[in-house]
Amino acid sequence: MSYHIKTRKAKKLHTKFIFVSGGVISGVGKGVTTSTIAALLQSRGYIVAPVKCDAYLNVDAGTIRPQEHGEVFVTDDGMETDQDLGNYERFLNTDLSKANYVTNGQLYQTIIQKERNFEYDGEDVEVALHVPEEIINRLEQAAKARKADFVICEIGGTVGEYQNILFIEANRIMKYRHGRDTAHVHVGYLPTPPSIGEMKSKPVQNSVKQLISSGIQPDFLIARAETKLDDRRKQTLAWTTNIPVENIISAPNVDSIYRVPANFDKEGLTDQLLRHFELPSKKRDLKNWKKFAEKITRIENSDKVINIAVVGKYFETGDHKLSDVYVSVIEALKHGGWANNAKVNLEWVSSATIEKQGAKKILSGYDGICVPGGFGSRGVEGIISAIEYARKQKIPYLGLCYGMQLATIEFARNVCRLRTAHTTEVEKEARHPIIHIMPDQEKMLLNREYGATMRLGAWDCLVTRGTKAEKAYLRGGWLKAKGAAKISERHRHRYEFNNEYREKLENAGLVISGATPDGQLVEIIELKDHPFFIATQFHPEFKSRPLEPHPLFTEFVRAVIKRK
Ligand code: GLN
Repeated sequence: MSYHIKTRKAKKLHTKFIFVSGGVISGVGKGVTTSTIAALLQSRGYIVAPVKCDAYLNVDAGTIRPQEHGEVFVTDDGMETDQDLGNYERFLNTDLSKANYVTNGQLYQTIIQKERNFEYDGEDVEVALHVPEEIINRLEQAAKARKADFVICEIGGTVGEYQNILFIEANRIMKYRHGRDTAHVHVGYLPTPPSIGEMKSKPVQNSVKQLISSGIQPDFLIARAETKLDDRRKQTLAWTTNIPVENIISAPNVDSIYRVPANFDKEGLTDQLLRHFELPSKKRDLKNWKKFAEKITRIENSDKVINIAVVGKYFETGDHKLSDVYVSVIEALKHGGWANNAKVNLEWVSSATIEKQGAKKILSGYDGICVPGGFGSRGVEGIISAIEYARKQKIPYLGLCYGMQLATIEFARNVCRLRTAHTTEVEKEARHPIIHIMPDQEKMLLNREYGATMRLGAWDCLVTRGTKAEKAYLRGGWLKAKGAAKISERHRHRYEFNNEYREKLENAGLVISGATPDGQLVEIIELKDHPFFIATQFHPEFKSRPLEPHPLFTEFVRAVIKRK
C-alpha cells in the first residue's frame, strides 16, 4: 500500500488551499464565511474556487427531502447541490459547476468504480488512505476547472463528528505535504447564556482542541457571537488555541449576510490571509460590496415596505426552517426589492390554510403573490385557488416551476372551462392532462432511476417578441436588443406543458412568452390584461445575484410597488 503515500513536497504550490470547518453548533455561518473569504480574495484580484464537501452518502442533493436538507440548488451544468453553492455564486457573482460540490457518495462511487476497473493495481483499497486521496483529487480538479489561485473548501458538519472526519484527514495530509500553502479557518460559536449574561469561550476552545487532536492546528478563528468580541476574550482565545490574535476575527450577528465581506475585511481577515500565504494584494476592490451594504441599510430602515405572500405546501411540517427550503427564492425577492429601493416583507402562506379558509380571507392583505417550485399533490388545490385569486384580483403574480404548471392548470380550469384539467403528477389519468410527464422522464421513473434524471441545469429559451417577459429581460440588460430572444435559465423538473392544449389556451388569452429553441417545451407563460402575471418553467431564482438581480424578480417587485 505504498505507492500512493506521497510525501512532503518542497515546491511551492501555485494554488493555495483554505479549509473551513465549523465548531460548537451548526448553522452559525460557515457557508457565509466560506463565501465571504472567496469574495474577499476575489476582490484582491485572485481567482477562487469554493468547494462544498458534504458528508452524506447521497451522490447529490437531488434525492434528499427538502425538510431534511433545505433547498436543492442547481448549477448550470445540472448538478443538484447543497444550498451553500447558491451563496458562493451570489457572493462571487459567478457560475459554478459540479467541480465545486463533493459528497461522500461521489467519492465512494468513484473509488468503487476504480477498484472494479482494476485501477488500484491489486491493492487493498482502504478508507483511511484512498478516500482522503480522492478528496484531494477533487480539490485539485476544482482548482483546474477554474484555473484558481485559491481553493476554499468548506467541510460540512461540525468538528467531532464521525461523518466528516475524512475531509479533515484530507486537510491534514495536504498540510503535511504543502505546509503554508494551506490554511485552516475554524468558525466557532461563543454563546451568551441568558442566565449567565456573559460571552463564553470554552466551547470554542474545546472544538479547537478537537481539531488539534485530528492533527490540525487552525490558523484563523471566526468568532461568531451575538455581539462583538472584546479584547480580553480575543486574548484568551489566542492563548488557549495557539491562533495569533490578529487572526481571530470577531463576527457578531448582522442584519444582512451581504454586510459580512465589508465587516471581515475591516477586521483584517483579507490582509492576514494574504500575509499567511505571503501573497500581495493585486488590487483592492471592495467598493461594490461596501456601497451595496450601505444601500441595504438605508432601504431596510426606510418605511417603503411591500408584503409578498409565498404560497406553498412545505410550510407547516415540524420545526425545520422554511427559509432553508427556499433560500434562493427569498434572496432573489430581496434582490428585486433592493433594485427597486424597497424592503420586501415575505410571509409564508400554507396552501393547506388556504384550502381551509379560502384565498380571499388569507391573501387579501398582500401586495404580491409568489408560488415557488414544489412536488406532489399535497396542498395543490390551495395553491391553485391562490393563483386564481391573483389572476382575478390583478395582484402581481410570479410563478416558479410548479408555480407555472399550476398557473396553467388554473387557467385551463377557470378560463377555458376544462374543469378536470390537472397535472399527471397528481392525477395520473387526468381527463385533461394540461401538464404531463416528459416522455424520457416516464421511462426513468418506470425503471426507478430517480437520481440526477430530471431535466436539469441550464437550457436555452427563446423569449417571444413583444411580451412582458421580453420587456423585463431587456430592462434588466439580460437581453441586449428587441428580438434578441435567447436566454439561458436553470431547470429542475420532470413534467411539462402539454402541447396538445397549447392552441386552446392561447386562443383563450394565455401568452406563451418563452419556449425552447425547437419550440417544443413551453418555458414562460404570461397574461395580457394583468399588471404582472408571469410564470416560468425554469428557476430564475438560481441566477439572481445581489449585485445583479434577476430581471423577472426586479420587474415583479416593480409591478407590486406600482400597483400599491
Ligand atoms: N413537480 C414539478 C415537476 O417535476 C415541478 C418541479 C419544480 O417545481 N421544481 O415538473
